[in-house]
Amino acid sequence: MSTEKSLRSSPPRGKCIECFLCQNVCHVLREHDKKEQFAGPRFFVRVAGLEMHPLDGLNRAGLLKDQLGLGYCNITKCCTEVCPEEIHITDNAIIPLKERVVDEFYDPLTMLFRKIRGQ
Ligand code: SF4
Ligand code: SF4
Repeated sequence: MSTEKSLRSSPPRGKCIECFLCQNVCHVLREHDKKEQFAGPRFFVRVAGLEMHPLDGLNRAGLLKDQLGLGYCNITKCCTEVCPEEIHITDNAIIPLKERVVDEFYDPLTMLFRKIRGQ
């Protein structure tokens, strides 16, 4: 499944003023201290902006899953609630990125193709 297919219509590209309020309220960082394992909402907004760019062809599903710790986010939406730029961080960045990871790593057809290609 293509990136475009799993990303929604209102891209967060270019609106972020890097106030880091979203990082500050995120309980994964704040309470669970997962700073080493979890990139946090501001960085997911950035990655989503890149993923939605029409000229961008990189596949970041592995990066999101393994290095940026996207799975730690349980979509509480606290980050969205504090964003002064009213970026829908969870709906328009995090959830589409999660869908991308699911498509890439847990979709049975994709898994089959990967097996066939020996990857
Ligand atoms: S939705 Fe995810 S990134 Fe945002 S505050 Fe909740 S756990 Fe953190
Ligand atoms: S709260 Fe909004 S504007 Fe501030 S860093 Fe996060 S995404 Fe960017």
